[in-house]
Amino acid sequence: MRAMLLDAPRRPLRAADIPRPEPAPGQLLIAVRACGVCRTDLHVADGELPDPKLPLILGHEIVGTVATGPGVERFAPGTRVGVPWLGWTCGACRFCRAGRENLCDRARFTGYQLDGGYAEYAVADARYVFALPNGYSDLEAAPLLCAGLIGYRALVAAGDAERLGLYGFGAAAHVVAQVARWQGRRVFAFTRPADVTAQRFARGLGVEWAGDADAAPPEPLDAAIIFAPVGALVPAALRAVERGGTVVCAGIHMSEIPAFPYDLLWGERVVRSVANLTRRDGEEFLALAPKVPVRTRVEPYALARANEALDNLRTRQVSGAAVLDITA
Ligand SMILES: [Zn+2]
Ligand SMILES: [Zn+2]
Repeated sequence: MRAMLLDAPRRPLRAADIPRPEPAPGQLLIAVRACGVCRTDLHVADGELPDPKLPLILGHEIVGTVATGPGVERFAPGTRVGVPWLGWTCGACRFCRAGRENLCDRARFTGYQLDGGYAEYAVADARYVFALPNGYSDLEAAPLLCAGLIGYRALVAAGDAERLGLYGFGAAAHVVAQVARWQGRRVFAFTRPADVTAQRFARGLGVEWAGDADAAPPEPLDAAIIFAPVGALVPAALRAVERGGTVVCAGIHMSEIPAFPYDLLWGERVVRSVANLTRRDGEEFLALAPKVPVRTRVEPYALARANEALDNLRTRQVSGAAVLDITA
Protein backbone atom coordinates (compact mmCIF):
# COMPACT_ATOMS: atom_id res chain seq x y z
CA MET A 1 0.00 0.00 0.00
CA ARG A 2 1.00 3.62 -0.43
CA ALA A 3 1.82 5.45 2.80
CA MET A 4 3.53 8.63 3.95
CA LEU A 5 6.10 7.72 6.59
CA LEU A 6 7.68 9.78 9.35
CA ASP A 7 11.19 8.30 9.67
CA ALA A 8 12.25 10.73 12.37
CA PRO A 9 10.98 14.00 13.83
CA ARG A 10 11.76 17.22 11.94
CA ARG A 11 12.09 15.40 8.63
CA PRO A 12 9.60 15.57 5.78
CA LEU A 13 7.32 12.56 5.41
CA ARG A 14 8.54 10.03 2.86
CA ALA A 15 6.26 8.41 0.28
CA ALA A 16 6.68 4.63 0.47
CA ASP A 17 5.14 1.38 -0.71
CA ILE A 18 4.86 -0.88 2.30
CA PRO A 19 2.99 -4.11 3.11
CA ARG A 20 -0.66 -3.74 4.07
CA PRO A 21 -0.98 -4.10 7.89
CA GLU A 22 -2.36 -7.38 9.27
CA PRO A 23 -5.21 -6.97 11.76
CA ALA A 24 -4.49 -8.58 15.15
CA PRO A 25 -7.24 -10.19 17.26
CA GLY A 26 -9.97 -7.60 17.87
CA GLN A 27 -8.74 -5.29 15.12
CA LEU A 28 -10.33 -4.18 11.88
CA LEU A 29 -8.54 -3.68 8.59
CA ILE A 30 -9.85 -0.41 7.19
CA ALA A 31 -9.52 0.87 3.63
CA VAL A 32 -8.82 4.54 4.29
CA ARG A 33 -10.79 7.04 2.21
CA ALA A 34 -9.92 10.29 3.96
CA CYS A 35 -7.73 11.37 6.86
CA GLY A 36 -7.76 14.75 8.55
CA VAL A 37 -4.53 16.66 9.14
CA CYS A 38 -4.50 17.89 12.73
CA ARG A 39 -2.21 20.27 14.58
CA THR A 40 -1.22 17.32 16.79
CA ASP A 41 0.31 15.70 13.67
CA LEU A 42 2.52 18.78 13.41
CA HIS A 43 3.54 18.49 17.07
CA VAL A 44 4.52 14.83 16.46
CA ALA A 45 6.33 15.59 13.19
CA ASP A 46 8.15 18.52 14.78
CA GLY A 47 9.33 16.46 17.76
CA GLU A 48 7.26 18.37 20.32
CA LEU A 49 5.62 15.16 21.59
CA PRO A 50 8.10 12.61 22.97
CA ASP A 51 8.80 9.08 21.80
CA PRO A 52 6.57 8.44 18.79
CA LYS A 53 6.59 5.01 17.19
CA LEU A 54 9.12 5.17 14.34
CA PRO A 55 8.80 4.94 11.48
CA LEU A 56 5.27 6.22 11.92
CA ILE A 57 2.17 6.76 9.82
CA LEU A 58 0.58 9.97 11.14
CA GLY A 59 -3.14 10.73 11.14
CA HIS A 60 -5.92 10.23 13.68
CA GLU A 61 -9.02 11.48 11.86
CA ILE A 62 -9.48 8.40 9.71
CA VAL A 63 -12.58 7.77 7.62
CA GLY A 64 -12.65 4.45 5.81
CA THR A 65 -14.57 1.30 5.11
CA VAL A 66 -14.14 -1.96 6.97
CA ALA A 67 -12.28 -4.41 4.76
CA THR A 68 -11.99 -7.35 7.11
CA GLY A 69 -10.50 -8.44 10.40
CA PRO A 70 -11.34 -10.30 13.58
CA GLY A 71 -13.13 -7.16 14.85
CA VAL A 72 -15.90 -7.51 12.25
CA GLU A 73 -18.45 -8.75 14.79
CA ARG A 74 -18.87 -5.08 15.65
CA PHE A 75 -18.79 -3.65 12.11
CA ALA A 76 -19.65 -5.65 9.00
CA PRO A 77 -17.32 -5.41 6.00
CA GLY A 78 -18.18 -2.36 3.89
CA THR A 79 -19.37 -0.28 6.88
CA ARG A 80 -18.06 3.28 6.92
CA VAL A 81 -16.24 3.96 10.18
CA GLY A 82 -14.10 6.59 11.87
CA VAL A 83 -10.89 6.06 13.82
CA PRO A 84 -10.00 8.74 16.40
CA TRP A 85 -6.90 9.66 18.42
CA LEU A 86 -7.74 7.31 21.33
CA GLY A 87 -6.61 3.94 19.97
CA TRP A 88 -6.37 1.72 23.02
CA THR A 89 -6.75 1.88 26.81
CA CYS A 90 -5.98 -0.66 29.53
CA GLY A 91 -9.47 -0.81 31.05
CA ALA A 92 -7.95 -1.58 34.46
CA CYS A 93 -6.20 1.51 35.83
CA ARG A 94 -7.97 3.87 38.23
CA PHE A 95 -8.75 6.34 35.45
CA CYS A 96 -10.23 3.72 33.14
CA ARG A 97 -12.34 2.32 35.99
CA ALA A 98 -13.62 5.82 36.79
CA GLY A 99 -14.82 6.49 33.24
CA ARG A 100 -11.83 8.73 32.52
CA GLU A 101 -10.12 6.57 29.91
CA ASN A 102 -8.79 9.72 28.26
CA LEU A 103 -6.30 9.81 31.15
CA CYS A 104 -5.42 6.08 31.09
CA ASP A 105 -1.93 5.30 32.41
CA ARG A 106 -1.20 3.11 29.40
CA ALA A 107 -3.31 4.71 26.66
CA ARG A 108 -2.07 4.42 23.09
CA PHE A 109 -2.89 6.98 20.47
CA THR A 110 -3.50 6.68 16.75
CA GLY A 111 -0.90 8.32 14.55
CA TYR A 112 1.51 8.54 17.51
CA GLN A 113 2.12 5.21 19.25
CA LEU A 114 -0.03 3.37 16.69
CA ASP A 115 0.09 3.81 12.92
CA GLY A 116 -2.56 6.18 11.61
CA GLY A 117 -4.31 7.10 8.40
CA TYR A 118 -1.83 8.78 6.04
CA ALA A 119 -1.97 5.52 4.06
CA GLU A 120 -4.29 3.38 1.97
CA TYR A 121 -5.02 0.98 4.84
CA ALA A 122 -5.01 1.14 8.62
CA VAL A 123 -5.76 -1.30 11.41
CA ALA A 124 -7.67 -0.27 14.50
CA ASP A 125 -9.03 -1.93 17.63
CA ALA A 126 -12.75 -2.32 16.83
CA ARG A 127 -13.73 -1.18 20.36
CA TYR A 128 -12.38 2.33 19.71
CA VAL A 129 -13.84 2.76 16.22
CA PHE A 130 -16.97 4.87 15.69
CA ALA A 131 -19.89 4.52 13.34
CA LEU A 132 -20.22 7.78 11.37
CA PRO A 133 -23.37 9.80 10.72
CA ASN A 134 -24.84 9.98 7.23
CA GLY A 135 -25.02 13.33 5.48
CA TYR A 136 -21.25 13.88 5.47
CA SER A 137 -18.92 12.99 2.62
CA ASP A 138 -15.77 11.12 3.62
CA LEU A 139 -13.77 14.35 3.45
CA GLU A 140 -16.36 16.30 5.45
CA ALA A 141 -16.56 13.61 8.15
CA ALA A 142 -12.81 13.47 8.84
CA PRO A 143 -12.54 16.70 10.90
CA LEU A 144 -15.37 15.53 13.16
CA LEU A 145 -13.02 12.86 14.53
CA CYS A 146 -10.60 15.14 16.36
CA ALA A 147 -11.29 18.81 15.74
CA GLY A 148 -14.95 18.01 16.41
CA LEU A 149 -14.55 15.52 19.24
CA ILE A 150 -11.90 17.33 21.25
CA GLY A 151 -13.56 20.64 20.51
CA TYR A 152 -16.77 19.19 21.92
CA ARG A 153 -14.98 17.93 25.04
CA ALA A 154 -13.51 21.41 25.51
CA LEU A 155 -16.95 22.97 25.07
CA VAL A 156 -18.37 20.71 27.79
CA ALA A 157 -15.43 21.67 30.02
CA ALA A 158 -16.34 25.33 29.50
CA GLY A 159 -19.58 24.66 31.41
CA ASP A 160 -22.78 26.55 30.76
CA ALA A 161 -21.02 29.79 29.76
CA GLU A 162 -23.32 32.05 27.79
CA ARG A 163 -20.56 34.28 26.38
CA LEU A 164 -17.85 32.01 24.97
CA GLY A 165 -14.49 33.11 23.57
CA LEU A 166 -12.57 30.94 21.08
CA TYR A 167 -8.85 31.64 20.71
CA GLY A 168 -7.46 30.37 17.40
CA PHE A 169 -10.08 29.93 14.70
CA GLY A 170 -9.02 26.76 12.88
CA ALA A 171 -10.53 23.32 12.41
CA ALA A 172 -11.73 22.82 16.01
CA ALA A 173 -13.09 26.33 16.58
CA HIS A 174 -15.06 26.32 13.34
CA VAL A 175 -16.93 23.23 14.57
CA VAL A 176 -17.31 24.39 18.18
CA ALA A 177 -18.67 27.78 17.08
CA GLN A 178 -21.52 26.05 15.25
CA VAL A 179 -22.39 23.79 18.19
CA ALA A 180 -22.19 26.69 20.66
CA ARG A 181 -24.44 28.91 18.51
CA TRP A 182 -26.95 26.05 18.20
CA GLN A 183 -26.94 25.74 21.99
CA GLY A 184 -27.87 29.41 22.19
CA ARG A 185 -24.50 30.73 23.37
CA ARG A 186 -22.92 33.95 22.18
CA VAL A 187 -19.54 33.35 20.55
CA PHE A 188 -16.53 35.65 20.32
CA ALA A 189 -13.58 34.67 18.09
CA PHE A 190 -9.97 35.72 18.61
CA THR A 191 -7.45 35.29 15.81
CA ARG A 192 -3.87 36.27 15.12
CA PRO A 193 -3.71 40.06 14.93
CA ALA A 194 -5.06 41.41 11.63
CA ASP A 195 -6.03 37.96 10.28
CA VAL A 196 -9.09 39.38 8.52
CA THR A 197 -9.64 36.15 6.54
CA ALA A 198 -10.08 34.09 9.73
CA GLN A 199 -12.21 36.82 11.28
CA ARG A 200 -14.50 36.91 8.26
CA PHE A 201 -14.69 33.10 8.29
CA ALA A 202 -15.71 33.22 11.98
CA ARG A 203 -18.41 35.83 11.41
CA GLY A 204 -19.81 33.71 8.58
CA LEU A 205 -20.44 30.97 11.16
CA GLY A 206 -22.56 33.15 13.42
CA VAL A 207 -19.82 34.47 15.67
CA GLU A 208 -21.02 37.87 16.90
CA TRP A 209 -17.60 39.47 17.35
CA ALA A 210 -14.25 38.54 15.79
CA GLY A 211 -11.05 40.38 16.59
CA ASP A 212 -7.36 40.17 17.42
CA ALA A 213 -6.19 37.82 20.17
CA ASP A 214 -4.57 40.66 22.08
CA ALA A 215 -7.72 42.80 21.96
CA ALA A 216 -10.35 43.00 24.70
CA PRO A 217 -13.77 41.65 23.75
CA PRO A 218 -16.64 44.17 23.74
CA GLU A 219 -17.88 42.72 27.02
CA PRO A 220 -16.51 40.22 29.58
CA LEU A 221 -16.78 36.51 28.72
CA ASP A 222 -18.02 33.63 30.87
CA ALA A 223 -15.52 31.14 29.45
CA ALA A 224 -12.82 30.85 26.82
CA ILE A 225 -11.32 27.92 24.95
CA ILE A 226 -7.76 28.22 23.67
CA PHE A 227 -7.11 26.13 20.56
CA ALA A 228 -3.93 27.93 19.45
CA PRO A 229 -0.73 26.39 20.93
CA VAL A 230 0.34 29.73 22.36
CA GLY A 231 0.91 29.98 26.12
CA ALA A 232 0.72 33.78 26.09
CA LEU A 233 -2.99 33.43 25.33
CA VAL A 234 -3.65 32.03 28.83
CA PRO A 235 -3.22 35.36 30.65
CA ALA A 236 -4.93 37.12 27.72
CA ALA A 237 -7.97 34.85 28.06
CA LEU A 238 -8.01 35.19 31.86
CA ARG A 239 -8.11 38.93 31.35
CA ALA A 240 -11.13 38.52 29.03
CA VAL A 241 -13.23 36.33 31.36
CA GLU A 242 -15.51 37.53 34.11
CA ARG A 243 -15.21 36.43 37.78
CA GLY A 244 -15.98 32.71 38.05
CA GLY A 245 -15.02 32.20 34.40
CA THR A 246 -13.14 29.20 33.02
CA VAL A 247 -10.26 29.14 30.55
CA VAL A 248 -9.90 25.77 28.81
CA CYS A 249 -6.62 24.88 27.09
CA ALA A 250 -7.62 22.40 24.39
CA GLY A 251 -4.33 21.64 22.65
CA ILE A 252 -1.96 18.76 23.41
CA HIS A 253 1.03 21.08 23.31
CA MET A 254 1.46 24.74 24.15
CA SER A 255 4.40 27.11 24.36
CA GLU A 256 5.35 28.20 27.87
CA ILE A 257 2.75 30.20 29.76
CA PRO A 258 4.26 33.52 30.86
CA ALA A 259 4.02 34.60 34.52
CA PHE A 260 0.95 36.66 35.29
CA PRO A 261 -0.38 38.54 38.31
CA TYR A 262 -2.60 36.64 40.72
CA ASP A 263 -5.30 39.25 40.12
CA LEU A 264 -6.02 37.57 36.78
CA LEU A 265 -6.87 34.29 38.50
CA TRP A 266 -8.54 35.79 41.56
CA GLY A 267 -12.33 35.82 41.66
CA GLU A 268 -12.58 32.03 41.27
CA ARG A 269 -11.41 32.02 37.69
CA VAL A 270 -10.29 28.55 36.59
CA VAL A 271 -7.59 27.46 34.14
CA ARG A 272 -7.79 23.85 33.00
CA SER A 273 -6.72 21.63 30.13
CA VAL A 274 -8.61 19.04 28.15
CA ALA A 275 -6.72 15.86 27.30
CA ASN A 276 -7.61 13.37 24.57
CA LEU A 277 -11.12 11.94 24.43
CA THR A 278 -13.26 9.18 25.81
CA ARG A 279 -15.40 6.94 23.64
CA ARG A 280 -18.40 8.53 25.28
CA ASP A 281 -17.33 11.97 23.98
CA GLY A 282 -17.22 10.47 20.51
CA GLU A 283 -20.64 8.85 20.73
CA GLU A 284 -22.22 12.03 22.10
CA PHE A 285 -20.64 14.36 19.58
CA LEU A 286 -21.23 12.16 16.53
CA ALA A 287 -24.91 11.95 17.51
CA LEU A 288 -25.09 15.72 18.02
CA ALA A 289 -23.23 16.87 14.87
CA PRO A 290 -25.98 16.00 12.36
CA LYS A 291 -28.64 17.60 14.58
CA VAL A 292 -26.95 21.03 14.57
CA PRO A 293 -26.08 20.30 11.75
CA VAL A 294 -22.35 20.94 11.93
CA ARG A 295 -20.94 21.75 8.49
CA THR A 296 -17.20 21.27 8.09
CA ARG A 297 -15.13 23.32 5.69
CA VAL A 298 -12.36 21.15 4.27
CA GLU A 299 -9.35 21.72 2.08
CA PRO A 300 -8.51 18.44 0.29
CA TYR A 301 -4.98 17.25 -0.50
CA ALA A 302 -3.89 14.06 -2.27
CA LEU A 303 -1.97 11.64 0.00
CA ALA A 304 1.31 12.44 -1.77
CA ARG A 305 0.83 16.11 -0.80
CA ALA A 306 0.74 15.41 2.96
CA ASN A 307 3.91 17.47 3.54
CA GLU A 308 2.30 20.43 1.82
CA ALA A 309 -0.81 20.08 3.99
CA LEU A 310 1.34 20.05 7.14
CA ASP A 311 3.32 23.08 5.97
CA ASN A 312 0.16 25.01 5.19
CA LEU A 313 -1.20 24.18 8.64
CA ARG A 314 2.07 25.30 10.22
CA THR A 315 1.95 28.64 8.40
CA ARG A 316 -1.81 28.94 9.08
CA GLN A 317 -2.78 28.97 5.43
CA VAL A 318 -5.63 26.50 5.94
CA SER A 319 -9.14 27.85 6.29
CA GLY A 320 -11.15 25.23 8.16
CA ALA A 321 -9.61 21.75 8.09
CA ALA A 322 -7.00 20.14 5.83
CA VAL A 323 -7.95 16.59 4.84
CA LEU A 324 -6.04 13.99 2.82
CA ASP A 325 -8.15 12.45 0.08
CA ILE A 326 -6.75 8.93 -0.09
CA THR A 327 -8.93 8.05 -3.08
CA ALA A 328 -7.46 10.85 -5.22
ZN1 LIG B 1 -6.25 2.61 31.86
ZN1 LIG C 1 -6.13 15.86 16.49
